[in-house]
Amino acid sequence: MTRANSKMHAMQIRIRNLLLFAACPVFASAQARPLPGPDVQQIYQRLLPQIEKIPAFDHHAHPGFADDPDVDAMAAPPNATEPMRTRDDNPELAVAAHALFGYPYSDFSPEHAKWLIQKKSELKKQLAGPAYFDSILDKLNIEMSVANRAMMADYLDPKRFAWVFFADSFMWPFNNERETARNPDEGVFIPLQEKMLRRWMQQENVSKLPDSFDDYLKFITQVLEDNSKRGGIAMKFEVAYFRPTTFSDPRRDQAEDIYQRYVSGGIPTEKEYRTFQDYIFRYLVTEGGRLHLPVHIHTAVGIGDYFNLSKSNIMNLESVLRDPRYASTTFVMIHGGYPLEREAIWLAAMKNVYLDSSFGELAQYPSAFKDTLKMWLETFPDKITFGTDCFPYNEVLGSEESYWLGVQSSREALAAALAEMISEGEITEPRALEMAHAYLHDTAVKLYAGRVH
Ligand SMILES: [Zn+2]
Repeated sequence: MTRANSKMHAMQIRIRNLLLFAACPVFASAQARPLPGPDVQQIYQRLLPQIEKIPAFDHHAHPGFADDPDVDAMAAPPNATEPMRTRDDNPELAVAAHALFGYPYSDFSPEHAKWLIQKKSELKKQLAGPAYFDSILDKLNIEMSVANRAMMADYLDPKRFAWVFFADSFMWPFNNERETARNPDEGVFIPLQEKMLRRWMQQENVSKLPDSFDDYLKFITQVLEDNSKRGGIAMKFEVAYFRPTTFSDPRRDQAEDIYQRYVSGGIPTEKEYRTFQDYIFRYLVTEGGRLHLPVHIHTAVGIGDYFNLSKSNIMNLESVLRDPRYASTTFVMIHGGYPLEREAIWLAAMKNVYLDSSFGELAQYPSAFKDTLKMWLETFPDKITFGTDCFPYNEVLGSEESYWLGVQSSREALAAALAEMISEGEITEPRALEMAHAYLHDTAVKLYAGRVH
């Protein structure tokens, strides 16, 4: 029997079995239904407490205090327009402050806000050093959280917080006058990339950029290796904030030629700069595979009014993600391409590509985020991971409150998505709980070969 024939034969048997089942009333419910039944609320109520008991791994977060400049490698541009739910007047944040600190008010008037600032500073004194943020994770039932930060802080416990460092700055080693002047947001972002590159140079005791391109690549690899030794579990790109995410595939000698012409001065043309960056990006991605450092990429809308959604469309990355040369690199699509998450999930067909749902649960309310999760769970349930994208909003509302909002929203949306899937006859309840464990913890943890738990 040829392969095609045997496939055909197996399909005929399957169709016959399906017809037999369909004829039998006992199996009639095996056909999934388009609407949930009246039991959906009950199933939700049953699932939620079980889902709340699952210790989570937060795959994308920016823990830290508001006055800590290392919380991110970039900063929110001034006067950026925030969507409704992530504004600091969202009343849900008062619920968060109540749940975490017993905040007795429903608003953040300056008088009331003082109470919260005072309460937190007392707690920080009682829980010195890493104990404060450990206690926040305990309250949220987060076993371990990524800390996607410029540098780690001594007040974050390395047993509970895993460092994900930023890799973009290697792409901006030249005179960035034109890049910085592009718009007010880049005026904030690009100087911070320059600062990040200088910090990597300091770390490696390099006082000036190497003369040869070969040595520049060696310097990059050295930073990756040292960061890995210092606890870094992955590298993160937020390149979409600074340039389009379409990457050409230049030859090494092209990048080398550009490096040599501009390393000690002069402004490369936009095309030259992009060509150089495209090569460096691919170099970093390749090194990520060799050094077992998964590559996290920001793929979603971003803060700042000048963030260009069409030029940073997640599908621009498809040619890189589906390139067999990078099969040994693990990619995590941070924020799951939101608001293009419907297309994005199909990128996870690649064995080395994963989607992280962080920010989706903050940008959307749980009723909408539930539909995102449901669609992902129905497609590649073993390729999606949980994250909060928590971030300190200001000196009153910290990453503590946004952790709470992120975790709470995700667990509720997850319970609701799974309840609908059970009620609609798509999956059983035990299978739903397996999916919940995978999403909240197991799938992400497996990517780091025993370095996280
Ligand atoms: Zn983030």
